[in-house]
Amino acid sequence: MSRVFNFSAGPAALPTEVLEQAQAEMLDWNGSGMSVMEMSHRGKDYMSIATKAEADLRELMSIPDNYKVLFLQGGASSQFAMVPINLLNGRDGVKRESADYLLTGQWSKKAVAEAKRFCNVNLVADTTDSKFTTVPDEASLKFDPEAAYVHYTPNETIVGVEFDYIPDTGDVPLVADMSSTILSRSIDVSKFGVIYAGAQKNIGPAGLTIVIVREDLIGNADANMPVMFDYKTFADNESMYNTPPTYSWYLAGLVFARGLKKGGMSAIEVVNKRKAAKLYKAIDDSAFYSNPVDVNYRSWMNVPFILANADLDAAFIEQAAAKGLVTLKGHRSVGGMRASIYNAMPEEGVDALIAFMQEFAAANS
Ligand code: PMP
Repeated sequence: MSRVFNFSAGPAALPTEVLEQAQAEMLDWNGSGMSVMEMSHRGKDYMSIATKAEADLRELMSIPDNYKVLFLQGGASSQFAMVPINLLNGRDGVKRESADYLLTGQWSKKAVAEAKRFCNVNLVADTTDSKFTTVPDEASLKFDPEAAYVHYTPNETIVGVEFDYIPDTGDVPLVADMSSTILSRSIDVSKFGVIYAGAQKNIGPAGLTIVIVREDLIGNADANMPVMFDYKTFADNESMYNTPPTYSWYLAGLVFARGLKKGGMSAIEVVNKRKAAKLYKAIDDSAFYSNPVDVNYRSWMNVPFILANADLDAAFIEQAAAKGLVTLKGHRSVGGMRASIYNAMPEEGVDALIAFMQEFAAANS
C-alpha cells in the first residue's frame, strides 16, 4: 500500500495514524464486539467516545467554560442560516434587524446571500474589486454598534486569503466561519461569539459541523423556527437531540487526541507556519509560478499558484500525480493550482511538492 500526498481542499487528507487506529478498531471497538458505526449514540460506549472528543477539543482550543461545543450536521453552509436565526434576537433580548458582514471571498459571499433572507446585511468591507486577493485594513472597519452580530471568514479557502488579525467588534458578537482555518493555530476563543466549521478539512470526515457558541447567544431564536436550526435544541441535549453523525464525531475525536499528543495548538502552529512559508518562498523565488494574494494575507492552509503558461497545467497535474502528489487542480474560478496543506499534510509532502515544482519549471522554462 502506498498513500499519496493529497492536497485536496476538502474533504481533505486525514492523518494516517488516525486512519490506522480507526482501521484497528473498525470491527471491534474496545471489546464491544461492534464498530463505532453500529453503536447506539445513547449507549455507554458511544457516550464515552463523544464526551472524550469534546473534552479533547476543549483542551486543544482552550475553550472557556461559558461556551458550548455543538456537534451538528448540515455543513458550514447551514450555519449561514443558523447564525442569523439564532443571533438576530440578540444577547440582551433586543430584536435586531441588521448584521454586519465582511465580504472577502466566495464563502463570505454565500454567507451574505443567505443572511439577506433573514435580515438587512450591512457590508462593512467588500474586497470584490481586488478579486478577493486582500483583506480590509483593520483601521478602515467601521462597525455598527447596534448590529446583531459581525460575521467574517478568517480564511477564504478558494483564493487563499486570510486575516492576520481578529476584528475588534466591542460588545457586538463576532461570528467566524473557520471551516478552513480551525485548529491551524492558537486562537483566543473568548474574542468570539460563535465559531463554526465544517469538519472535512482540519477536523475529520465530512458530515460533522462544529459550532462553538457563547452561552448567552443560545435560546434566542424565534419560536416558529425549525427546532433543528435552534442552537438550544443541541445545547440542551449534548448534541443528541436526534442521531448525530456518530462515526465522524468519533474520527474527529481521534484527530483531537492526536493534536494533543503532537503538543497542542502552539506546536501545530509552528509546523503550519513553516510549511506555508517554504511553499510561498518556492513560488516567489520562481518566475515560473505566481500567487496573486497580498503577501501580508496569504493563507497558511490553502496555497493557490498559477503557472506562467496555463497550457502546461494539464502536464503539471499529470506529472505531479505520477509522483504521488494529487488533487492540485485549482478552483475553477481561479484556475491554476491549489495546494491545501492542512494539519494532516506532513512537511515531507510540502517538500516533495516543492521539489517537483522546481523540476517541472526547469524542464519547461
Ligand atoms: N466556508 C468555507 C470557508 C469553506 O471552505 C466551505 C467549504 N469548502 C464552506 C463554508 C461550506 O462548507 P460545507 O460544505 O461544510 O457546507
